Amino acid sequence: MNDRITRRFFLSASIVLPLTVDLPLDASAQAAATCSTAKSTRPETGGPNFKPRSPERQSLLEPGIEGRRLILTGSVMTTGCRPIARALLDFWHANPAGQYDNTGFRLRGHQYANSEGSYQLETIVPGPYAGRTRHIHVKVQAPGGTVLTSQLYFPGEPANVRDGLFARELLMTMIDSTDPLQMQFDFVVVA
Ligand code: FE
Repeated sequence: MNDRITRRFFLSASIVLPLTVDLPLDASAQAAATCSTAKSTRPETGGPNFKPRSPERQSLLEPGIEGRRLILTGSVMTTGCRPIARALLDFWHANPAGQYDNTGFRLRGHQYANSEGSYQLETIVPGPYAGRTRHIHVKVQAPGGTVLTSQLYFPGEPANVRDGLFARELLMTMIDSTDPLQMQFDFVVVA
């Protein structure tokens, strides 16, 4: 009798055990599968309005800057989905009238991702200009890595489809459409 109970217990335990062990393995295997498919962020031209040596700042807001407030958050990671601590991000974009400040550094700034590879940019929504839909220019670089130059686009812009540089994979994700507008974008670069 005791033997039967023990045996039955053993059988049910041997059925249950692999399930409890399999769950975390499945989860990590799934994460690994996602990581292995991570492609580097598509590069795009920096255009004629890049200026080196922008000020280091997370917020591009300053007196005289008017427009719809935008907060962009995200992370910088390797193609293996490892976060890149202290990755450099340099942002620049046009004002609501579609003009760049090429004499000073308005709406230009660089920053470093934190120890988890996360960044946050506070700015305003740029305006479109001749031939271009609304966009944000960016350079991203892992410490000691090569520079990725690209552009980010806003979802739902009618001019997106008329812009030859527009790429769907560079669309930011809308997190909150109220005030401030909140967008998200994760960069994948070669470290
Ligand atoms: Fe531009």
